[in-house]
Amino acid sequence: MVTKDMMCYKNGAGKVDRNQGRVHSKQVYEATKEALDRRGVTIEEISKIVFEMQIAYNVGLTLEHCMESVESVLKKREMQHAILVGIELDELAEKKMLSEPLQQIVESDEGLFGVDETIALGSVFTYGSIAVTTFGHLDKNKIGIINKLDTKVGNGVHTFLDDLVASIAACASSRIAHRTRDLEEQNETFADITPEETAPETKIEGTTT
Ligand code: MG
Repeated sequence: MVTKDMMCYKNGAGKVDRNQGRVHSKQVYEATKEALDRRGVTIEEISKIVFEMQIAYNVGLTLEHCMESVESVLKKREMQHAILVGIELDELAEKKMLSEPLQQIVESDEGLFGVDETIALGSVFTYGSIAVTTFGHLDKNKIGIINKLDTKVGNGVHTFLDDLVASIAACASSRIAHRTRDLEEQNETFADITPEETAPETKIEGTTT
């Protein structure tokens, strides 16, 4: 049990709240989901990309399994921070609030800019090499909603958002690929598990969750 004393420490000037200045995980998670929603990107649209990336390797895989995987990826701080930074910059560019020449570079999605890919790639590393190679594939081939965002269907600046969606989809795909191996070792496929059981810890001997 966490007591009030455990949350504080003495620095000579008295007790200081250790949590001072920190943002609660739930708040960051909610802000991330809200930001994607505001920009018209749904969990289902991202999951469709994951499904397309993984169906060839996974018997019984459903869109619901992919949605579970996307939701799980969105719970990682690494991913949340990238999404919040990228979307903020897109929105500031739309409002013409960036200073020049950055305003023009972001607004026009200047070909040599690359910071959008770099931020998205940073959060991909958490999920290993399959995530990295899938991200490269999506960056090049722009599947599903990534294509819509990249080709600027409708108005708005999506310089960062298209890469962030590729990053989320790549991570969720990698997570499924790793789950496949666990299932194979138990002579099972995705056809044998519910979406809730997509999490790596479920139905694995020796784990309790
Ligand atoms: Mg981009």
